[in-house]
Amino acid sequence: MTGLKTPQPTNRFRNNAKSVDIGNSFWKISERNGLAGIVAELDDGILRTGVGHEFVNFSCCSYLDLDSHPKVIEGAVAALRTYGVLDHCIPRSRVQIPALLELETSLGELFAADAVSAVSASVASAGLLPLIASGHVGDGIRPLMIFDKNCHVSMAQAKPLCADETEIVTCRHHDLDFIEDRCKEYARVWYICDGSDSLGGYAPVKELADLQDRYGLQVFYDDSHSVSAFGTRGIGYVRSTSPALDDRTITVTTLNKAFGTSGAAILLNGHPQETLRIIERFAGALSYSQPLNTAAVGAGLASAEIHRTDELITLQRRLQDRIALFDSRIATSQSGNTFPIRLVPMDDSEVIEAGRRVFEAGFYVSPVFFPIVARGTAGLRVMLRAGHTDRQVSELCAVLEEVGAPSATPVRPETGA
Ligand SMILES: *Cc1c(COP(=O)(O)O)cnc(C)c1O
Repeated sequence: MTGLKTPQPTNRFRNNAKSVDIGNSFWKISERNGLAGIVAELDDGILRTGVGHEFVNFSCCSYLDLDSHPKVIEGAVAALRTYGVLDHCIPRSRVQIPALLELETSLGELFAADAVSAVSASVASAGLLPLIASGHVGDGIRPLMIFDKNCHVSMAQAKPLCADETEIVTCRHHDLDFIEDRCKEYARVWYICDGSDSLGGYAPVKELADLQDRYGLQVFYDDSHSVSAFGTRGIGYVRSTSPALDDRTITVTTLNKAFGTSGAAILLNGHPQETLRIIERFAGALSYSQPLNTAAVGAGLASAEIHRTDELITLQRRLQDRIALFDSRIATSQSGNTFPIRLVPMDDSEVIEAGRRVFEAGFYVSPVFFPIVARGTAGLRVMLRAGHTDRQVSELCAVLEEVGAPSATPVRPETGA
């Protein structure tokens, strides 16, 4: 039929036509070169494909290898035996088994906060941010929400949801002047950003705390990349650095990276019980979708216990040793920071072939290149873990040098934290 209407998108905060077009060419090239769509079994730290190719994964975010820790595995099994049910399907606000509450109490004690669990950090942010937008988490005043330009997609995807509730704006990366200017204009301002960026930068937590003191600025951090790997008892960068640990700060973290289990935690301080109930009842999927299942809860309880022992300190040190070893061999702009991710710079035209050769030599690192990152910032992304051996790291560095990675100069200048 002719004359039928086709809706026009507004694309104010998202644009699938653009992102699929841009992103899919990246994935197609990666897969064609055997660097995506890999299927492999994990056995004692080595991955093996169906055709018998063995490789060590240097692209996994379980930085402390707690995901395969015997106590974590045992915790999952033990909880299933204790509670005798994987997931008793009913919203937790109506009926819940005590397992989830046990985990939230444990995480709350561990991180000195009220902890609310979710099946993932993405679900937590997508549920919580619209409640912040409407003033229901906060003091009832509708805020201006400032999203950091580089904030993780799990937060950026909530923009259209928040924009239906309040005014939102995107600012340049950590633009403190912009944030301060908006604080002078609006009764209430929330700033949404990552606590630790996936390429090693940290949020200006102290400077933001100063704005929190002076203007009552509220900050929503996603500290998924540093929790467990960083700080006393794995408390992460934001909560080890910020003095503003009251109702002006909310931290979301995945439990699926260095913490080594499944799910996520929302960490809040100083909010009334009523607000916690509102979150449980109205924070999107937290209210209508499945909670963490019993196996994930049991694993979480076991990982939280490990966080209370010296073993965590040992694992954090091992991780830092691996990072230092890598930095002593390969020059990256992340060199010297405490963060486990390194981007080994390569030309756009060479990065796929380099990734392929590194994979053939028995190591998986993820190539990133235009159009997924800006031209001129392509490279091989390397993630180090406590469970890598010195030998694995050294051999990887040797292969990286062979494919053109810049070697570190023998005596490195002081680069700071
Ligand atoms: C990995 C990551 C996530 C995703 O966490 P899920 O719990 O898997 O949703 C969210 N935010 C940041 C900053 C991350 O690095």
